[in-house]
Amino acid sequence: MRKRITKELAQQRMNDMLEHDKFEILDWDSTYKPATIKCKLCGDEINFKQGQTMYLKKTLRGGFNGECNKCNRYKFAYENIKTYESYIENYEKLIDENSIKKEMYLEKIKENESKIKHEKEIIKEYEELTDK
Ligand SMILES: [Zn+2]
Repeated sequence: MRKRITKELAQQRMNDMLEHDKFEILDWDSTYKPATIKCKLCGDEINFKQGQTMYLKKTLRGGFNGECNKCNRYKFAYENIKTYESYIENYEKLIDENSIKKEMYLEKIKENESKIKHEKEIIKEYEELTDK
């Protein structure tokens, strides 16, 4: 007879597979039933159609890589800001070189400034959530 996977066992398997305990199981029934885990860092929830997915290594056929979308989005926010800042710098140079198109470049700068603002909001929201 196969051993029934309890919530505690599933948690242990997931921690062992990921080599950390960043996620906590909220809902668990059995291996083939839906399950939900929570990121302990940001509180975001991740749903699995089959509970066992949470402790299976990520492959093309499924599995879990231990990544949280919200935490990842936060990391990308800093990269995105750097990128937008470099665009703004480039447009400022272009204005110096070609003042006829100034209006267009200023418009582009404004676009990038509002993108930076959005990224900063993501960072702020995340940091409030995680008490960073
Ligand atoms: Zn997270």
